[in-house]
Formats: sequence, C-alpha cells, structure tokens
Amino acid sequence: MHSSENGAVHVIGAGLAGLAAAVRLAGSGRAVVIHEATMQPGGRCRSYYDQTAGMVIDNGTHLVLSGNHAALAYAKAIGGIGGLDGPDVAEFPFVDMATNARWTVRFNDSVFPWWIFDRKRRVPQTRVADYLPLARLVWTLDDKPLAEVMNCKGPLYERLIAPFFLAALNVEPPNGSAKLAGALVRETLAKGGAACRPLLAREGIGTVFVDPAITFLQERGVQIRLQHELRALRFGNGRVVQLDFGDENIALGASDNVILAVPAYAASGLMPGLQTPSVFRGILNVHFRADPPADFPSMTGIINGTSEWLFAFPGRISVTISDAAHMFNMPRDEVAQTIWKEVAKVLGLPDKLPPWQIVRERRATFAATPEQNAKRPAAETHWSNLFLAGDWTATGLPATLESAIRSGNRAADLISEGARIAA
Ligand SMILES: Cc1cc2nc3c(=O)[nH]c(=O)nc-3n(C[C@H](O)[C@H](O)[C@H](O)COP(=O)(O)OP(=O)(O)OC[C@H]3O[C@@H](n4cnc5c(N)ncnc54)[C@H](O)[C@@H]3O)c2cc1C
Repeated sequence: MHSSENGAVHVIGAGLAGLAAAVRLAGSGRAVVIHEATMQPGGRCRSYYDQTAGMVIDNGTHLVLSGNHAALAYAKAIGGIGGLDGPDVAEFPFVDMATNARWTVRFNDSVFPWWIFDRKRRVPQTRVADYLPLARLVWTLDDKPLAEVMNCKGPLYERLIAPFFLAALNVEPPNGSAKLAGALVRETLAKGGAACRPLLAREGIGTVFVDPAITFLQERGVQIRLQHELRALRFGNGRVVQLDFGDENIALGASDNVILAVPAYAASGLMPGLQTPSVFRGILNVHFRADPPADFPSMTGIINGTSEWLFAFPGRISVTISDAAHMFNMPRDEVAQTIWKEVAKVLGLPDKLPPWQIVRERRATFAATPEQNAKRPAAETHWSNLFLAGDWTATGLPATLESAIRSGNRAADLISEGARIAA
C-alpha cells in the first residue's frame, strides 16, 4: 500500500480503542487503514445473531455511565448515541436473594451528595458516616488493595460498593486497585447523579459503538481490512519499517505511523520486551429470550445470589457475572438453570427455562489489582512511529469502554501533535 502525502496511519485491531483512534483521525488528511484479525469488528464489545437463542445478543451486556464523557462523545460523533437508553435520574434497584428485600439507591443530580442524608435514597441499614471512606478513596495516591484502604464489610460494602467495584474492576473488590476504584468514584459518584445515570444499548452494543463507526469510517475513505492479522512488526532506525501480515508485507514510509490497538497478550507478542498486564479475569453472560414484565427497571443489582446484575430489554433478559472463573467449568445447562431460577424469582416469571445462550469471555479484562495496574504502558513507545492503545494501557481507569476509547483518542492525538511539531 502506498502512503498518502500526509502519511498513512495503520491501526491494528478494530476493538473500541482502534475504532476510536480511526474515528479521530478520519478526515485528517492521512490515509487510515484498520487491520483486524477476525471477521468482525468490535473486539470484546460486539453483537451478533445467535442461532440457539434465536436473537441478537451481545458478548456481554455493556453498561456506560453518563459520566463516561469519552464514550458518549465517541457514540455521538459516529451517530450511535440514539441507541443508548437510561432513566432520567441515577437510580439503582437491588434485590437480596437471601431475604427477598428490595430497595433502590437514588443519587441526586447535584455534586453535594444529599442522597446520603436521606434514608429513603441511601442503602438500607447504613449511616451517613459509613460513606466517608468513599470520599477518602478519591484521594488515594499510592496504589494498594482496596481492603487496605477501606473496610470491606458491612451493609454499605455488601449492598453497594462490592457490586459496583466487582463489575468495574472484574476482581474480588478487596484485592482490587484502590487507585482505579478511586478514579471511578472521582469521575462518577463524586460528580453527582448527573454523572451516574446508567445507559444501556437497547438494540445491542453493536448498534451504538460498532456499526455506526464502520459506516462513519467508510464514508470518510478509511479502509477496514478484516481477517488481516498482523503477524510481526519489523523495526529499524528507531521506528517500525514494515508490517508483516504473513501473505503480505507493508513497507512504511517516513511519515507513516502505527497504532497497536490489540489486547495486552497480543501486544506483548508483537513487541518483545513490552511490559503489559499479564493476569486476566473472565466474565460470564447468560442471555434468555423472554420478555421481562412491563416497566421493570432495565438494570437490577442482585445480592447474595449467583447472578450479579440483571438486565431487562424487550424480548431479552441478560445476566452478568464478573470474575467468573468459578463458573466456567460448570455444565452449561446447570448454569442456565441456576441463573434462570433467580431471574424467574426476581421478575415473577414462570420456572420454565426459555431459549438461552451463555457467553464465557475468559480474558474479558486484565485483573485490576495494584500489581497489574502498575504494568500498564503509556501510549508512546521507544519507536518513534508506534503508539499503543487499548483498555489495558495507562489510562488511569479500569478496563472499560471509556478506557479503551480514551486510549484510542490519545494515540490519535499523539500522531496529530507529532505531525504539527514536525511541520
Ligand atoms: C463480557 C464483557 C463485558 C464487559 N462489560 C463492560 C461494561 O459493562 N462496561 C464497559 O465499559 N466495559 C465493559 N467491558 C470491557 C470492554 O468491552 C473493553 O474494555 C473494550 O471493549 C476493550 O476494547 P479494546 O479495543 O481495548 O480491545 P479489544 O476489544 O480486545 O480489541 C482488540 C482487537 O484487536 C484484534 N486483534 C488482536 N490481535 C490482532 C492482530 N495481531 N492483528 C490484527 N488485529 C488483532 C482483536 O481481534 C480485537 O478485535 C466488558 C468486556 C467483556 C468481555
């Protein structure tokens, strides 16, 4: 491939980090090419039609919060934002499977957390003083396991903090990075309910984050090459000089750049000596083809159950279980039966199991512990034209869509800034 006059940018990987980088660079005067190893863009954020369930499912239900400004700006830029739905206020219903108790935590929109002072809005059986450690978390400087920074016991922890941090960090919260947990609180809770509204993709994550991006990019002349796996990077004179795709080699010109937006384990294989997070955690999702009762909230936290979060969409009910290695070797039928029993109880539906599908993502995210967080590399590399992107790079956030999209934006901006300085 020949470079355009302004230089080409080769984006390796069409996950959200790679797509965000390409969206940022599209129309910048550079030739942008995306190379994706698989047949489908989206990476760990993808929707597809599942024959067994007889419907479109997501590999995992993805929640974004209204404070995830990069994710929302990206969805708006590509025209996908209309597919995100959520309540007008930040409300989180919960059910305790052990006692069948139900309550809803209702944040107030403004920055001052007066919801904490209102018994009807805060977590039942908690006192105002219980919430103070959350404020301390925001200022955590040295990274430590959460258990060393706050009390990981008691009603507030069990009924609010643990479910949220388990979902966001994808590790048992006591072992999770206090710094990453603090970043979450700083960017959402500390900004008030206006930054905490839960948003879900009504028709699947592909329709919000992936399909519109592909249309947006194609309309701007970006080439998207699927089933085009990068096998090796060739280096010379402090830069990448060639991309090796096995059946094709692409020589890079003096102004050409590369954004490596592949998962951590793939990046470390392509860049020997690169330090990356090396411990990963799984997420399990079960999708049922069934209608939830009308007006049931789109998202419910489940305490003392096997299920952790229940998502209700028209014609589809999905359950997410984080840090789910303990479930991966259970027979699939048993998983489906166990989860459906809980779903039926929470929603008041018949016990008969509807059509279902289970998606096990074994390396869903890196384990957000202090040790793994310390291994995240910056976007810049020792090679002048090679930049890293991905939810595992040093974004200061756990492995989320927000992290992936910010990393892609940053890699694209570094290329644009470099070109400005050179000019
Ligand atoms: C089940 C599940 C549930 C989740 N839930 C949430 C949620 O609720 N909220 C949230 O914010 N985040 C959630 N996440 C995390 C979110 O999906 C990820 O943070 C994000 O999708 C990562 O994007 P990425 O671009 O960094 O990586 P990836 O999506 O992994 O993209 C990397 C791409 O590179 C490609 N690739 C790999 N090697 C090569 C190669 N050699 N050549 C070319 N291409 C290559 C891969 O095929 C892939 O398409 C969830 C993740 C999972 C798995």
